[in-house]
Amino acid sequence: MACSCVMDAHKSDLARMSAEQLRARRRVLAERLGDVEHVLAGSLAGQPRRCGRPGCRCADGEPHGPYAYFTPRPGGRGRARYVPAALEDAVRRYLRRGAEVEAALAEISAINAELLARRELE
Ligand SMILES: [Zn+2]
Repeated sequence: MACSCVMDAHKSDLARMSAEQLRARRRVLAERLGDVEHVLAGSLAGQPRRCGRPGCRCADGEPHGPYAYFTPRPGGRGRARYVPAALEDAVRRYLRRGAEVEAALAEISAINAELLARRELE
């Protein structure tokens, strides 16, 4: 039976679900993946900046900004990159989608690991 609690199952709940329920949940998660093109992994943070112009109010007072900076994950060459204000909403949207896709994939993996442990992985 697909009750609403199946929608936010925790790892410990997986152990209590039947193989049939696990496969049903896996299907729901896979369907929920939807658009996997507009995804980003990382974080968006506002940073205050000093421009360096002598005599500017930021020199010894309040800095400019905060401006949006995106830090990609995994790090690697992941320096924080400035995000123009016009793109902030898009970046937020991509990050949200990225997190949803990651969460769904992680849970599908957890379900498959549970099925494997039961020798039910087909
Ligand atoms: Zn300044």
